[in-house]
Amino acid sequence: MAGALARGALPLFRLKGIQVRLHWSFIALPLYVAFTALSEGQGWSMVWIQMGLIAIVFGCVVLHEFGHALTARRFGVRTRDITLLPIGGVASLERMPEDPRQEFWITVAGPAVNLAIAIISFVVVAALGLLALLSDVLQGAALWTNALVFLVVINLWLFTFNLIPAFPMDGGRILRSLLAMRMPRAKATRIASVIGRFIAFLFVGYGLYSGQPFLALIGAFIYLAAGAESRQVIQRERLRGVRVEQVMRTRFWCMGSAATVAEARDGLLAAGDTTLVVLGTDGLPLGVLTNAAIAAALETGRVHDRLSDLTLQEAPAARPDDDAHLAMQRMLQVGAPLLPVVQDQRLVGVLDPLMVQEFLRLREAEAKNGLSPSAASAHEG
Ligand SMILES: [Zn+2]
Repeated sequence: MAGALARGALPLFRLKGIQVRLHWSFIALPLYVAFTALSEGQGWSMVWIQMGLIAIVFGCVVLHEFGHALTARRFGVRTRDITLLPIGGVASLERMPEDPRQEFWITVAGPAVNLAIAIISFVVVAALGLLALLSDVLQGAALWTNALVFLVVINLWLFTFNLIPAFPMDGGRILRSLLAMRMPRAKATRIASVIGRFIAFLFVGYGLYSGQPFLALIGAFIYLAAGAESRQVIQRERLRGVRVEQVMRTRFWCMGSAATVAEARDGLLAAGDTTLVVLGTDGLPLGVLTNAAIAAALETGRVHDRLSDLTLQEAPAARPDDDAHLAMQRMLQVGAPLLPVVQDQRLVGVLDPLMVQEFLRLREAEAKNGLSPSAASAHEG
């Protein structure tokens, strides 16, 4: 997901070795704000004020994400980039440490940045004698009258909102890490993601009911992300100690790179497979092609082209004794549909996510019946 986010994003600037990017969908936010202001009969000056406020909010969001990223660095975890979406920021950490204490500190650091900004700007507001203005704003007066007052309010809001325990938002991660100090990580994740999905559901309902589309959007995003992350963690726990050769598929579709697109087309149905491993003259895999890529080549009239002339999807080879979970992660990172498995300079199988799921399903069925004590013990880690 991190890779997919970065692909649709405009690079803004680099700070401390971390690239900050703006996702294309971000444009929806100023457009929505301008449209709302103008349709309510407010002038362009109000639109520009609102744009300034958006810039301040997202400046604080960037600092929040740097709080996560720089704390992660202290634990030896690098951050690829920080991407700004209309609903907030995402720091793409290369991994989240499995030690719950490290996850706790990395997560707490983000909201802590907002609390610090709120306190500092509060002190400045007090020193300038603007406390009456602040209390007016807190009682419902317009937010934008003073940039410093705005900083206090918006950072208090960012601090509070992020601490809502809606996994995978910060509050939910803190909850997961606290639970994981007392129980297996998979169980802690399952509990946190159930609570997260329940709160996300409330966000969507309340957002639609009160006419706040961005809240509904955030809710939908949390709902999907909670499910995805929970599945990933549970898969990691279940695949602990499993090697690639135990889950690889030994029937697969491969062709030499000198074959033509027409030959691949003819082989597609006979192979009973949707992904083709393309081999170099040395018999080692060069990359893979999906049936969609073959269809795209046919569409552009490249029927007589050789497979070596097409752009192959990168798929780094795994070895039979590799850790299956790590290999699955590599596959996700490069966005490959499967990975070739190579032994002694020869293609011996493919790692196929569908088959890995099937393996886990069968193993769980066996564990339920008490047939496989090794599977049961690996499951709880
Ligand atoms: Zn955060």
